[in-house]
Amino acid sequence: MTTCPKCDSETLVKTEALGNIPLDVCPGCHGIWFDKGELEALLKQSQGEVPAGFELLSPKPEGLPCPRCKSRMSRGGLVNPMLLVDKCESCGGVWLDPRELALVKKLLGLTGGAESVEVERPAPAPAAPPEKKNRFLKYTLALAALIGLAMVSYELYVYFSPEGSVTGHFSAGAASFGFLMLVGGGIGTIKVK
Ligand SMILES: [Zn+2]
Ligand SMILES: [Zn+2]
Repeated sequence: MTTCPKCDSETLVKTEALGNIPLDVCPGCHGIWFDKGELEALLKQSQGEVPAGFELLSPKPEGLPCPRCKSRMSRGGLVNPMLLVDKCESCGGVWLDPRELALVKKLLGLTGGAESVEVERPAPAPAAPPEKKNRFLKYTLALAALIGLAMVSYELYVYFSPEGSVTGHFSAGAASFGFLMLVGGGIGTIKVK
């Protein structure tokens, strides 16, 4: 789990959409995180001269938090002092906002290759808890239906037994209540998915 340095609630999504390099892209702001060496590797897929590494021009320790090692990144010029980006001096990674990759390529005179990438937020996985809850409800309803069946059976047994052969007395209330539990629980068990 890597959090976007710009959007606190977004998790970066790994994608190889840009030239088969596993980059981390934010589904919210579409910024791209390049681990050390990945930016150079990506740029090499374009036509033109790519520097071996990027050092920030007049870096200042006021950048965003590094999504990889959490230390504060430096903010400085990339290729041109006007193109301010965030680079982590600890792990060597670079964070580029959506249009900055295209600007870097323009400044370096590179042509060809992809310049931006969009990723989908991974589907959330809260499907499991409600299913469990429904299963619990289903069991409860099935149990109610069984208890209802037992109550109805008992009352019918008492009702149809010859006088004096059983100790209990027939209760119309208990029979009706058991019948309702049986029907309600039964229908509920079938309806609840
Ligand atoms: Zn973001
Ligand atoms: Zn770092």
